[in-house]
Amino acid sequence: MNPKNDDMHLEHALRLLSKGCVVGMPTETVYGLAADATQDQAVAQIYALKERPSFNPLIIHVDSLEMACQWGYFSPLALQLAAAFWKVDSPYQNPLTLVVKRNNQNLSHLVTAGLDTVAIRMPSHPVALSLIKAFGRPLAAPSANRSNHISPTTADAVYQDLGDRVPLILDGGACAVGLESTIVDVTTDNLILLRLGGATVEMIESVAGCAVQRVEHAACITAPGMLKRHYAPHHPLRLNVTSPLPGDALLGFGAVPGATLNLSESGDLVEAAANLFAMMRFLDQSSCREIAVSPIPNVGIGMAINDRLTRAACTDLESDTKGLE
Ligand code: AMP
Ligand code: MG
Repeated sequence: MNPKNDDMHLEHALRLLSKGCVVGMPTETVYGLAADATQDQAVAQIYALKERPSFNPLIIHVDSLEMACQWGYFSPLALQLAAAFWKVDSPYQNPLTLVVKRNNQNLSHLVTAGLDTVAIRMPSHPVALSLIKAFGRPLAAPSANRSNHISPTTADAVYQDLGDRVPLILDGGACAVGLESTIVDVTTDNLILLRLGGATVEMIESVAGCAVQRVEHAACITAPGMLKRHYAPHHPLRLNVTSPLPGDALLGFGAVPGATLNLSESGDLVEAAANLFAMMRFLDQSSCREIAVSPIPNVGIGMAINDRLTRAACTDLESDTKGLE
């Protein structure tokens, strides 16, 4: 299959996305592996295809500020930045991702890796914009490469790395920026730089009228991918449990009798990944004493599930500073 881009393929892409499949999507930064940001199962496909060893919250892509406001809460400062950077004819033709509080229950919990915040960006690439606009809701899209491989800046590069495992790659030519977006946290009154990319600190500061803090100077936050910002349940979590204790809520995997919830009764790891954060959150709100989790095979996307569960079970946050890709 060769990469494509015309109306027929746009229609095909929309059908695939609705069914929960992934599609290769050109953006001005790099090519993305796009999936419906409201379907856990679709987002799980992204992780499975990328063979990521851990779950990283993903950026959701919108076609407008209006769509963005339906999924995240935009403070006046966030609105000011979005209005300046997210315009196709803006003088700030530079990619900026804003991390804001999520405000929509329909957004997949896997997409935000269980966090209450969401990273949002409006790409300027016309193919990405028309795809999102026609789809009518945000697309989650990390770079379209296998974990630890180079981010692709052409449709051919996506095909070379992921091949026929991606059912359709839209071809929008070579990426103009070729570099990831800058990520800024705007969940508080302070602007915190989480990743440097196509938009410079100077540009952001000139629009915001205030200084951008580097992560190392920000007391309350750690770099993206550091454990401390990741979801941790309030109830204690025990892993690899085959004999639950009284008072446990059992999060099962496979044919486990008596499970409170089951990540996948048929033992499907992609289904388990899709259910992981939503089920953990649900059990965390119950009145159980502890959450016990069945053993999960440590293969394929099971490695990412075990990585996340191990971090969620770890009470010593300082001990874990492993960055995520
Ligand atoms: P990419 O793989 O290029 O899509 O990168 C996504 C980046 O955005 C990762 O470094 C994530 O850790 C970061 N990110 C996404 N969502 C959030 C969030 N809610 N809070 C902080 N960082 C985030
Ligand atoms: Mg990447």
